[in-house]
Amino acid sequence: MTLDTIDFSGILEEIKEEVFPFFGKSKQADYIPALAKVPGDKFGMAVRTVDGQEFVVGDAKEDFSIQSISKLFTLMQVLGLGDEDIWPRVGREPSGTAFNSLVQLEYEQGIPRNPFINAGAIVVTDILAGRSADASRRIVDYYRMLSGNEENRPDEEVAISEKECGYRNAALANLMCSFGNIHTPIADLFDVYFRQCALTTSCLDLARAAMPLVCGGYSPIADEQVMTSRDAKRINALLLTCGLYDAVGSFAYTVGLPAKSGVGGGIVAVLPKAFSVAVWSPELDRYGNSFVGGKALELFTTKTDLSIF
Ligand code: GLN
Repeated sequence: MTLDTIDFSGILEEIKEEVFPFFGKSKQADYIPALAKVPGDKFGMAVRTVDGQEFVVGDAKEDFSIQSISKLFTLMQVLGLGDEDIWPRVGREPSGTAFNSLVQLEYEQGIPRNPFINAGAIVVTDILAGRSADASRRIVDYYRMLSGNEENRPDEEVAISEKECGYRNAALANLMCSFGNIHTPIADLFDVYFRQCALTTSCLDLARAAMPLVCGGYSPIADEQVMTSRDAKRINALLLTCGLYDAVGSFAYTVGLPAKSGVGGGIVAVLPKAFSVAVWSPELDRYGNSFVGGKALELFTTKTDLSIF
């Protein structure tokens, strides 16, 4: 595959024009009141190639709320610590249900289907909280190391806003606790979980932070091997099968890249050994994934003719 012949800048500019008709067809997340205030018509996109070139368009350097994309980085952090204890406690199968669904937890004895739905991510955060009294700071430090941006920080207004109405997440954690799959006191656990979801990031930060999944576990930003190449391969497989909740099949069909979305409107995707790409647009489809972001990524893999397929 040759990346040199692709006009990434031109393609990003074209996409910015071509997604215009898709705005205004859906709404930003409002179950977290602080997110409802974000203007719906934002659009940014950033690409970083394996040889270190970067391309941006639109609001690619503007901060937004990372939300569920943080689930990817906490999983990378746990696996990077060599912690395999996670797998008896979290599955590796697509859920086929909404990101915050309770239904499977009852009959699967408190074991979430995968680490990229809320229940699974809460267990991953529980593992980090069990290893350190300072898990919140460690999560922020880890993300800053990967993004190279010391300004990435939890937006306390978003964290508090989510905590005040986090009834579903509380239900998930309590149910898992009843099966013995949560070990941290729940209030403490949510201090960490909601602050990780409230991290601010930009598309460019995300494209940089995802590079270990492009480079076999190596972060060119941190100049450090942050996980084994085997774990990078495994995480990419989980992203492809579980990264977009119950829309993961359609996303693989239309885009064809391992990816993770969040209700802040961000999506980050990777083509191993080639590039990472991040997009942000806050209006969400009914699955909680960025509507315009999905369209933009479909255009991106179609125009570049680069996907895993
Ligand atoms: N913080 C959100 C929640 O736990 C994250 C959900 C998401 O981005 N899909 O509900």
